[in-house]
Amino acid sequence: MPDKNVLIIGGGVAGLTAAIELAKLDCHVVLIEKEKSLGGHAGQFTCKATDECAKCGACIVEEKIDMALSHANITIYNQARLAAISRKDRFAVTFFTEKDAEQSYDADAVIVATGFQAFDPVDKPFGYKRFEDVITNLDLEKKLRHEIEVKRPSDGITPEKIAFIQCVGSRDSSVNHLWCSRVCCGSALRMANLINTRNKNTEISFFYIDVQTFGKDFQFYYDRIRDRIRMIRAIPGDVFRTPDGQLKLEYYLPSEGKQIEELFDMIVLSVGIIPVGTADGMMEKFGLEQPKTGFPDEEFMRPVAGLFAAGTSKGPKTITEAVADAGRVALDVVHYLQKQ
Ligand code: SF4
Ligand code: SF4
Repeated sequence: MPDKNVLIIGGGVAGLTAAIELAKLDCHVVLIEKEKSLGGHAGQFTCKATDECAKCGACIVEEKIDMALSHANITIYNQARLAAISRKDRFAVTFFTEKDAEQSYDADAVIVATGFQAFDPVDKPFGYKRFEDVITNLDLEKKLRHEIEVKRPSDGITPEKIAFIQCVGSRDSSVNHLWCSRVCCGSALRMANLINTRNKNTEISFFYIDVQTFGKDFQFYYDRIRDRIRMIRAIPGDVFRTPDGQLKLEYYLPSEGKQIEELFDMIVLSVGIIPVGTADGMMEKFGLEQPKTGFPDEEFMRPVAGLFAAGTSKGPKTITEAVADAGRVALDVVHYLQKQ
């Protein structure tokens, strides 16, 4: 389809996948990404292989970046932001590039692939941003990329005890985020497995409500790790710092009906996936109201012909699910363009 132009907003794994699939079918694709680098959150994730691949999907992102950058039908603008968009026969798009140069583009279809934002746990009682040794799962992903043995952020010692706290900002009525973020159980258990392999003397405790086993490979890793970490079904409470620099976690154990205090050297908060908003107010430009869940899905986009959404912008997904979804959306776009 050499005479068709598609704009993709977002250079994470879904945006890149959709761009590649459309480019292979000879569409011209312009992809705009607001950050300096491509890959989105998943581009920061670590490989979680131990003696074998953990099937986390992180390496797919690198592969997609290389393919998109080298494809002649794809033009990528980093640090770009949408300025205006309107629709008559086609979408008339204006955006600013990295150097504040204004660019115009006429697109036959637009895919919103703006990904997600991570829940900010600063207002939760776990001491994030108050205590250096309380980090998020995304912080840990970056740490594991650079450290063989995991070290405590405050003083660089090897932690003897690490606690993972699950469902931070997900399935949480106090912040009106009732959904499960789908990826954090899998990602935390894979990272726990990696730490267990690298830090031989570190004990890992996993505080959870339920373990969600999304993805066909998950159960294998869950069975593998569950005997090597302390799985604690509990309701975590406040975190305090003791005078000698440890973290005291209070938690309620429903099975025993009692409140417990326990010391840890590091705490990892598995933060939820929350909607990123609506791409520089783009939905409002088309007169679309805010989606009820905050995630603009297909149903929500339907009133505007030629407007599509892909990947985690529509709701929580693993990397492989986001790739599969983006491939399917690329086909929907092609079918739409064929009818034009
Ligand atoms: S899927 Fe994950 S664990 Fe396997 S090689 Fe790729 S990055 Fe490593
Ligand atoms: S995937 Fe696990 S940690 Fe994440 S929200 Fe769902 S149950 Fe909670």
